[in-house]
Formats: sequence, C-alpha cells, structure tokens
Amino acid sequence: MHRQKLEALLAVCRNNLATVDEGLISHAFSYMLQAHKEHRRKSGEPYYTHPYAVAMIVAQEIPLDDVSVVAALLHDVIEDCEDYTYEDLAEEFGATIADIVEGATKISTILVSKEITKAENYRKLMVSMIQDIRVILVKFADRLHNMRTLEFVNEQKQERIARETLEIFAPLAHRFGLGRIKWELEDLSFKYLHAEEYRQLKKQISVKRRDREDYIKRFCAPLEKELAKVNLSFEMSGRPKHLYSIYKKMVDRNKTFDEIYDLFAIRIILDTREEKDCYLAYAIVCEVYTPIPERYKNYIALPKQNGYKSIHTTVLGPDGKMAEVQIRTREMHEVAEKGIAAHWAYKESIQNKASAFENWIRWVREILESPQGAASDEEGARQLLDNFRRNLYQDEIVVFTPKGDLIVLPNGATTVDFAFEIHSEVGLHTIGAKVNGRIVPLNRKLHSGDQVEIITSKNQYLSADWEQNVVTHKAKTAIRRYQNEQTKQILQSGREKWERKAKKLKIPLDEEPLLHAAKVLRFPGLSKMMVALAKDEISVDDIVRAVKTVEAEAEESVDIPQRDQQEVFEEFAERARSEKGIMIDGEAADIEYEFARCCSPLPGDEVIGFVTLGHGIKIHRRNCKNIQRLMQDTNDASMRDRLIDISWPGEGDSEYLGGIRVEGEDRPGILNEIALAVTSYQNTNIRSVNIETEKTFFHGSVLVTVRSLEHLQRLIERLKKVKGISSAQRYIEMS
Ligand code: MN
Repeated sequence: MHRQKLEALLAVCRNNLATVDEGLISHAFSYMLQAHKEHRRKSGEPYYTHPYAVAMIVAQEIPLDDVSVVAALLHDVIEDCEDYTYEDLAEEFGATIADIVEGATKISTILVSKEITKAENYRKLMVSMIQDIRVILVKFADRLHNMRTLEFVNEQKQERIARETLEIFAPLAHRFGLGRIKWELEDLSFKYLHAEEYRQLKKQISVKRRDREDYIKRFCAPLEKELAKVNLSFEMSGRPKHLYSIYKKMVDRNKTFDEIYDLFAIRIILDTREEKDCYLAYAIVCEVYTPIPERYKNYIALPKQNGYKSIHTTVLGPDGKMAEVQIRTREMHEVAEKGIAAHWAYKESIQNKASAFENWIRWVREILESPQGAASDEEGARQLLDNFRRNLYQDEIVVFTPKGDLIVLPNGATTVDFAFEIHSEVGLHTIGAKVNGRIVPLNRKLHSGDQVEIITSKNQYLSADWEQNVVTHKAKTAIRRYQNEQTKQILQSGREKWERKAKKLKIPLDEEPLLHAAKVLRFPGLSKMMVALAKDEISVDDIVRAVKTVEAEAEESVDIPQRDQQEVFEEFAERARSEKGIMIDGEAADIEYEFARCCSPLPGDEVIGFVTLGHGIKIHRRNCKNIQRLMQDTNDASMRDRLIDISWPGEGDSEYLGGIRVEGEDRPGILNEIALAVTSYQNTNIRSVNIETEKTFFHGSVLVTVRSLEHLQRLIERLKKVKGISSAQRYIEMS
C-alpha cells in the first residue's frame, strides 16, 4: 500500500516538475514513514497520511521543484518526532532541506505562541519566508491540508485556525499569486467561521445550479462557434465555485444573493502561447455581445504585481444579463492559479524567471523594512501589519518614468510615492513633480498611464509632514526614518552643548536640573528646550541661569499637583449631566436621583433607572453589568418593577457636553491641531481644552458640544489621526 502511494506521488512529480530525483523522494518517503510510525492524526488515520498529502499538494498545486516535495514529506519530522533533530535531517538530506523543514517548524511555533502579538508573529513569518521561498510554499500546503481535515479538531481550535487562515494565509497566498489555494483557504475558513451562512449559500447555489448552467451554455454556444472558425483551441468555463467571494460581496456591497449570483463570470483559456490570440478572442467576444467599454481591463499589457495576466471585459449577454469575460492563455492561467511556481514550470527564459522572482523578493523585503525599533513594540508591529494588508489587497496602478520604465504602485499613490519608489534619496529631495509634462502639486494622486517626472534639489529635504500624503509602506518608512534621524541629531547637538557647559560648571548631568530649567523657561518639555538650544533660539547661559534660579523661585515654579484622574472625570461628569438634566418616565425629573458609580452614565449613553429604598432613583447605563444581571437573574417580578424609564431630554436633536481624553507626544502646534481636528468636523464647538505636559508627553481633556455618541466617536477618530496623539478616547468611568 505504501508502495502504491509513493508511486502515485512520483507520477505527479514526473508530470509537473522539470527534474525529479526519484531516489531522493523515495528515501524521504520511507524516512518519514519510519519517523511517524507511532503517531496518529486526530482523525485516527496513521500520521504519515498528512505529510504525504502535503507533499501531494506541493507537487500538484505549487509545483516548484523536488526539494520542496521532499521538504513537504519531512515537514513535521523535527516538530513531532522527539528522536529526530535538525542535525539528523541535515546529515541525511543536506542542509537546504533541513533548513526548509526547520523554517516551516519555526513558523508553526511562532504562530501558536501567545506571548507575542499577532502582528509580530506575522513579521517573523515573513522574515523566515524570504530566506527560502520554499518554506512558505510547504507551509501553505500544510495549512491547506489541515484546513481540509479541520473537522476532526475541537471547535475552539477550528475557530482559531480558520481565523488565522483567513487573516494571514489567504492574503499571503493572494500575494504569491496562488489564486486557487487562496480561494480554497478562504472557502474552508468561511465554512468554519460562519457555518450557517456557508450552509445557506451552498444550498442557494445548488438550487440555482441548473438555471445557471443552462444560461452559461446559451452564452458560450455562439462564442464557441466563432472561436472555432478562427482555429482557436480553448476551454471555456463559467463555474461560480468561490463561496467566500460571493459572501463577501453580499456583505461589502450590501447586495442580495440573487444580485451577486446573477453576475456571470466566463473564463476563456486559450491553448496558445501567443498573446495576440487573446486580443483576437476579445474581438470575437465583442462581436457576439455588446461590450461595456469602461469595464475593459488589460492585465496583459499591464500585469498585476503578483504576475497576474488576463484580459477582463464585461458584456451584455442573452436576456440582457451582464457577464464578465476573462480571456487568457493557458500559461497565464497557470500563473494565476499557481503563482510564481508556474514561472518555473514554464520554459521561460532563465532571465525572465529570475527577474519575476527578484521583483517579488524585493517587494517582500521593502515591506519588512520598518523604522528601527518600531516593529519591536506592539504598535510598530501593528502598523506593519496594517501596511502589509493594505499593500496586499490594494488595487494597483501602473505609471511610467520619463524613460518609459514601468512602475507599479498601489491605488491612491502620489507623486511622492513615485519618487520614493525610484529611490529613497530621490524621495527625500523631492521639491516638485511633473505629470504628463505639467507641473502638479506633490500630493497629486497618480492614475494608470501617467508619466511622472520628479524634480529634486540637493539641498532641500521633504518635510516630515509628508507622511500623511503618501500611501506606500516604502515612502512612509523612509520619511519616518528621516524624521527620527533629524530629531535625534538635533536633540543630540543640544544635549552636547549643555553637557559641555554643565561639566565646566560642575552642574550634575542628570535630568533633574534641566526639568526645572525647562519649567522656568516655559518650555512644554525637555526635548523642546534642547531643540531650541540646538537651534540657538536660547543660549546655554539662559539654561544655566534657569537652573540656578530654580531654588530661589521654587515657590513660583512649583508644580501644580497633578490632579487625580478620578477627580477630573467626576468634575466633567457632573458638568455634563447638570447641563443636560434628565427625564424620568418622560417627565423632567423632580424626584431625587443619583448616577450609579458602577457605570457612571454620561449624556448620550442609553440609561435606565432603578428605584432604591431610600436613596431615590439610581441611574445606570443600560449595558451596565449590574443592571443586566438584575434583569436576567432575578425571578422576582417586584425587582423588575423597580426599573424605570430614563432618558436625556431632547434626545437626538439637542446638544450636550462630551469629553475626550487625549494623550500623546508633545510637539509644537499640537493644541492648534487638536482644535482644528475638532472644529473642522461639522463646525463642532470646543468648550475647553486642557493639556498638561510631562517631559515630552502630554495628556489632557477636550470638552466639546456634540449631538450624539456617534458625533463624539467621529471626533475621536479624527483626533486619533493627529500626528503625535497616541490615544484618544471617550471620557468614561475610571475603574
Ligand atoms: Mn503538518
């Protein structure tokens, strides 16, 4: 039986790979059998069926080379078999294969470890991936087989693995251009994450299958006739297999199943190596059916970054129904389904293969380069993940350099993104840009087909504010890095000036005297003072004087004690509530009431009252745990009778006081930007802004007049985008 399995694997390899070392594969197969002989899968099957299936997937769906097939066979040996080490594998199969196996093992441990944030895992995954692309190919195959057999693990694990697959592996597969694997991973994740919707959708599709197949037949028949006339050999299909994409479209575009499902997609795969045959086929399609011109996309002349090539068009088919038609050669189709692996399978010139691979690797590297230190903390890692996701799914535009070289950028990219794409030095020295021969503002968004010329100046640098005008990870990273460098340098030179002087005067070099000086000189923070010193806005003697006057003026410059946060909140809460008043059972309140401390309701919150014995009415948030428990747990009807309807007067149309707590890095103009962010949104009224600085940080509160919680939430979102603000949140209870 084992013999048969091995033969089947070898047959697939012979069929799909350029060269096959059959001895090596056979050896790995029996080695793996031996290593796993004690193990069983959750399904009860002998364990070897898993690595075997993974190797089959590699050989069949991502055929790259025999080394990856061998690595797939061995991929669980180090992880699951105590007696087998990296050294054993290296000795038996060589370092390359052992490295791939170890890489794949490490990825698994990284992904299950709980200590590091998910995003950080992701970065590590990427790093190990680019060392040998085959590590991730094996991992894809491993994941795919695990997803196919996910029914055997417990529900909790199903959910975790499915989510991870949807969030990490499917987008990665997309980036690799592994179209087929991507949709299978998505559908399987969908099946476990939204079991009910999955079942429904499957049912709906099967009910409609007959209609659909009939329609597709009617659509294809005249095309087949015409294509045959010009001697094109082809395969035509129109199957809607990808459940998750239907589901996503229904959710994202808020459409019904019928609306989505009625959009037919027909694919014409031509058995030819000639691109021009695709255009011929396109012409025939347009002859038979009326095309909708704005839906024409030519990914043959301008391929996507992941190598995808095809012509897309939408036409009016029989019964006036729209159908999308994709036209491509067999080879283009293989690339769409199997990604870069397909480049190897085709006898392309070595040069082409190398450059496709190089381009891809370069892209991954750029994504991974992040400002030093930033990715080591959680925020940095998250940012990286965001950028990465954005880059993964973003549509692309293609623009040209003055010499006609082609540059692929994400949708929404500006001239500055373009400049950084050329070189980070070009980006940093950009002072102007021409698009199609005309000077344009630097933040001009580019369109496919634009020809872009960048004007630079040696002595000028792009200002750091530019970060918000670029979209590519590369540009953002370069600007941030430059900005960090700048601040560091300026700070450093300020510090040096101070230290030279302080040493001479024997003033201690710690921060204490400087902090006092900063306060005396009215700087919001130490770094501000150092920057001013570096720029000669103040002299080092000013600081010396300030340090010395510290004691004399101690009383004057004494710190206002930081008020207790709780106290600040309560003051705010009281003000907000008393401005608004409340309604009890629809009437202005004229009985005694109090706001519950457990949930501290504020205007805008949905509230409910509870009649207490002797203390009037206690007002809680409707979602307060205490109230919820009361409503659920108690069978005592008399308790429920004590609940009473409470609302804020004039809900919806009147305004009330909302509070936002902000925190962040202090910098010049921060107050102004906070104000701007608030007032520029629907003329929102600021009641007060209060900011306290501590060293280089500030925290404070912004009180605003709002109409609803949603209004308040919008403002919070806007504040979060202000540079330097690290957190902005609604004032709620402190506990
Ligand atoms: Mn495995």
